[in-house]
Amino acid sequence: MSKIVVFVEHTAGAVTRASIEALGAARTVSEDVTAVLAGEGAQAVAATLGSHGATRAVALDAAGASRDALAADVAKVVREQGAAAFLACATSTARDIAPRVAALVDSVLFSDCTGLTAEGGALRVTRPWLAGKVIATLESSGPVLCATLRRNTFAPFEGGGAAEVIAADASTDFKAVLKGIAAKAGGKLDVSEAPVVVSGGRGLKEAEHFAMLEELAAAFGNAAVGASRAVVDAGWRPHGEQVGQTGKTVSPQLYIAVGISGAIQHLAGMKTSGTIVAINKDADAPIFKIADYGLVGDAFEIVPALTAAVRELKAQG
Ligand SMILES: Cc1cc2nc3c(=O)[nH]c(=O)nc-3n(C[C@H](O)[C@H](O)[C@H](O)COP(=O)(O)OP(=O)(O)OC[C@H]3O[C@@H](n4cnc5c(N)ncnc54)[C@H](O)[C@@H]3O)c2cc1C
Repeated sequence: MSKIVVFVEHTAGAVTRASIEALGAARTVSEDVTAVLAGEGAQAVAATLGSHGATRAVALDAAGASRDALAADVAKVVREQGAAAFLACATSTARDIAPRVAALVDSVLFSDCTGLTAEGGALRVTRPWLAGKVIATLESSGPVLCATLRRNTFAPFEGGGAAEVIAADASTDFKAVLKGIAAKAGGKLDVSEAPVVVSGGRGLKEAEHFAMLEELAAAFGNAAVGASRAVVDAGWRPHGEQVGQTGKTVSPQLYIAVGISGAIQHLAGMKTSGTIVAINKDADAPIFKIADYGLVGDAFEIVPALTAAVRELKAQG
């Protein structure tokens, strides 16, 4: 059976949802999954990873080490385990670590993958290419299949168990020190993490009208507001909210596109969402081609009605 090493992240003493998904993905193809994690409190978090599918967890004593040193330590674990695959969820930290690990184990990295299979002993990943027009199935020609996985795409492992915890010394040979990571003000959910994303486009006419989407997102309670590039370029919304080819890739359970035409570059960032709802006054808007539910009409009438309906349903419990 193929051994798999998964890079795990944690914040405030708890494993992140993204890493739980990466462990879940690993368990769909292997029963021998080693989690590797670092930073303050890594050992305590390591002890909880059995419940998410890890069979062992290597806790590196590496609080503050730079990413190059951390990647070297993670690559060492990959080699020591004789792993056939190295996986991480496609967070900003993992996007920094994973290419370095891939290089250190003489492999290439497949980024932002949406599928993982093991057929006849061959591990393969799938990922969208050409702004989502093509889904490529890829096998590594290197010794280790290295991949980052798209968030909200893989299910957590159900079953649980106990993981063997291994405390390991980390490299002290690093060139930079990570002093800390500051949470962004306001505690808002990020579009790439939220289970529900309500995105607005030029059809909202002006920046102030995004208040309508903020209200709908607040009614859901677990939603983030996203934006098309047109409105980001216009300065209506920050770039951190942009969804698409030159923005963030999102894959929430529910994506609501309001006044967004559905240009290919926008679709590239959201077409793998679970359920897609489009609200647009133009019945021929391309967004309707990929929408599961389409509402043809004026966003200024539909969105407040939808917000009221969500609030009512929430009130009913
Ligand atoms: C290299 C490159 C990279 C790009 N990257 C991205 C990217 O990452 N993300 C991205 O989004 N775009 C990206 N774009 C831009 C993309 O091509 C589109 O221009 C952009 O997505 C259009 O934004 P929009 O849908 O908000 O605006 P529009 O295309 O102007 O669409 C507005 C929509 O609102 C509807 N509407 C108007 N009034 C109402 C109303 N009252 N109620 C309901 N609907 C209404 C209209 O019918 C229309 O469909 C990129 C382009 C290039 C060339």
